[in-house]
Amino acid sequence: MSIIIERFNKIQSNLSKINKSNSLKIIAISKTFSLEHIMPLIELGHNHFGENKVQEADSKWSQIKKEKNDLQLHMVGKLQNNKAKKAVEIFDYIHSLDSQKLADSLFKYQSEINKSINYFIQVNIGNESQKSGIQYNEVDQFYNYCTREKKMNVVGLMAIPPNDENTEKYFKSLSELNSSLGLKELSMGMSSDYMKAVNYKATYLRIGSAIFGERS
Ligand SMILES: *Cc1c(COP(=O)(O)O)cnc(C)c1O
Repeated sequence: MSIIIERFNKIQSNLSKINKSNSLKIIAISKTFSLEHIMPLIELGHNHFGENKVQEADSKWSQIKKEKNDLQLHMVGKLQNNKAKKAVEIFDYIHSLDSQKLADSLFKYQSEINKSINYFIQVNIGNESQKSGIQYNEVDQFYNYCTREKKMNVVGLMAIPPNDENTEKYFKSLSELNSSLGLKELSMGMSSDYMKAVNYKATYLRIGSAIFGERS
């Protein structure tokens, strides 16, 4: 069996021990890896894959997405305004909605091609100056902007917590904010902390290296 499938099965078995709900989804983050490397997981029937660059995603996935209709592609990286049009064409989910200007562009382009995209609002949960995301206390207002003025389908919040010992504290506060908005989905948890994220009601786990191996 492919090592990728072995690792993937191990993650699923870890999750099945603590989570009984089948609404939990693993997004296999395939950035930097070739389609050839990813292929065993596609052939296994896994549907959710994530990338962090528009150009890379487009060249890697546009052909195979035409062949396999049920593939769902997630954008998890910082999205520049000038890439919004291409992003709307290739992605089904965008986890990095982080400014009004970006919301305006994305909504304009999705309307032009009549495509429905699922969005996560990225929250700067640790208030880090080098990270993007909406500030915690401004999420409510931004959510209202995206859903009322723009009619965007915001399904949940997303965050990449600071790399420190307080991961659970960040997961907890993101989860509370998510619930307070009545949102169903929650994008948090990566290779090193996905088991913790599930304890705080994550529904989309973004797992890369634990499936595909270390990135060079
Ligand atoms: C790369 C990436 C991941 C996956 O990280 P791993 O530690 O390899 O699981 C998750 N989320 C985002 C936003 C990423 O850029």
